[in-house]
Amino acid sequence: MSTPLSEINEIHAALSSTFLTSLSAHIEPSPSTTSTGYPLLSLAYRQHQLLQLARLVQENADALCNSLWIDEGKPRQEVVMAEIGAVIGRALRGAKELESWVGGGEEIGEDVKLDGWQEGWKARVEKKAKGVVLIISPWNYPIILTFQPLCGAIAAGCPALIKPSEVVPTFSKLLAELVPKYLDPAAYRVALGGIPEITKILELKWAHIFYTGNGRVARIISAAAAKHLTPMTLELGGKSPVIIDGANLGEGVLEVAARRVVWGKVNNAGQICVAPDYVLIEPAYIPAFIEACRTALESFFPEGALNSADYGRIVSEAHFARVKGLLRDTKGKVVIGGGALDGSEGQEGARARGVEPTVVVLDEATAADDVLLQDELFAPILPIFPVASVAAALEYVRAHEHPLVIYAFTESESVNREVKAGTMSGNVVFNDTFNQLSVDDIPFGGVGESGYGRQPLKWTFEEFVYLRSVVEVPFSEEPKFGGRYPPSSKETLDFFEGCLKIPIPSVEELGRKVNGVNGVNGDTKV
Ligand code: NAD
Repeated sequence: MSTPLSEINEIHAALSSTFLTSLSAHIEPSPSTTSTGYPLLSLAYRQHQLLQLARLVQENADALCNSLWIDEGKPRQEVVMAEIGAVIGRALRGAKELESWVGGGEEIGEDVKLDGWQEGWKARVEKKAKGVVLIISPWNYPIILTFQPLCGAIAAGCPALIKPSEVVPTFSKLLAELVPKYLDPAAYRVALGGIPEITKILELKWAHIFYTGNGRVARIISAAAAKHLTPMTLELGGKSPVIIDGANLGEGVLEVAARRVVWGKVNNAGQICVAPDYVLIEPAYIPAFIEACRTALESFFPEGALNSADYGRIVSEAHFARVKGLLRDTKGKVVIGGGALDGSEGQEGARARGVEPTVVVLDEATAADDVLLQDELFAPILPIFPVASVAAALEYVRAHEHPLVIYAFTESESVNREVKAGTMSGNVVFNDTFNQLSVDDIPFGGVGESGYGRQPLKWTFEEFVYLRSVVEVPFSEEPKFGGRYPPSSKETLDFFEGCLKIPIPSVEELGRKVNGVNGVNGDTKV
């Protein structure tokens, strides 16, 4: 089911009209206008829509879970834990905290106190809705990755067009049915379809595009956005490494580390943007790490993962073939798993696309060229890359694109500091995987190849607003401005040239020690 191309312009026009009308909502209607304004920007309206979003997800949890079981074979607990619970919690928190995000209540904005010669002026910063926005979401966590950006758009006062993924058609169709039942159709719409529909959508001018997906498509969308100077949020993925500092893990801790890594890998069968992609570990600790992975998997899935309703499936035939191809082409040694369903087991639909949780040990000399260390795996395959030391692991990570996350398992304070200081990534997580997404009070997002922009909650809201500064200069300040108007004189020039005589201090004078800092040594002026 796709939205007819001819309807896309109409949806855009309707959302634009809602936004324009909302701008006049705070203005007293003059006798010459009949405009009544639209309440989109009022805090009560935004809070109501956020609460409706929480209701939508809560009241339709069964249908939503069922849609992902059909499309992706995704276990119910995974959907409730990582998607449904998070959307309900964050929509409710957004409704409660909206006023503090916006600042200044219905007046919207924060006063700024000026001093010195500007003391008599008024200054304010207002967080204003950017306008009509576009949200493009992927298939892997489609509930949260559609509704979380939408929470931000609603909170900001932006009408939104949502374009869910064509890869999960049952979910996307359900979304298109539910959104108009719960949310204001004048402000929030869904468009269904694939490349022809999204191409048409991208021809139009949006005030912001919030895209979650892969880096290849991100480049197509960025190019389309650039034609309209549209700002974007790009939530992308990449290869998130796991560094295991075996030498600094106490008794029994390596086992816990392995359980936490494997858990991060088996969620949604490894199809997570923050999946632990590969493990960097010294050879001495590899046998114990593999055994601990085996123990963890046996405890998660006593009858075997492919026989468990708690283990997910690969999203499409194309990805199923890709994942099996990775297992075929790796030069590494499969030490756990390696199997895939072949149709003879009687599992149907999405559930027939099963690949076992698989651990592969790569050869130190050839690992870097192995197929498993090229693109983001997005699969339940965990390659183990033997490295000489934690320092060598960090060097490898630094030499590659900035990942979305770096996971490090260590009990050493100095290694902890080295990981933080010596690498770049959107997030860095010590001693666990995946669970950083449950921390509502830190921003999540990428850097470089893993994207830009942040979520959830207040940070998502910030993506959809712009900071508009307001300055009010009273007429009574005029006596202070005499010197700025031409003609200039020696007196006015002397006044403005005061800046040329301001002493510029050294870094030491600012209270900072400088020892061998490049380009700053003692009294050398560089
Ligand atoms: P996908 O195939 O569902 O695509 C995402 C969206 O892009 C869809 O809505 C789709 O319609 C649209 N799209 C596809 N082809 C397009 C084209 N040619 N032009 C314009 N739009 C197009 O999902 P995906 O990209 O396979 O998602 C997986 C990727 O997303 C992984 O790389 C993963 O790491 C990343 N991801 C990132 C996050 C995050 O928050 N950082 C979260 C989840 C997934």
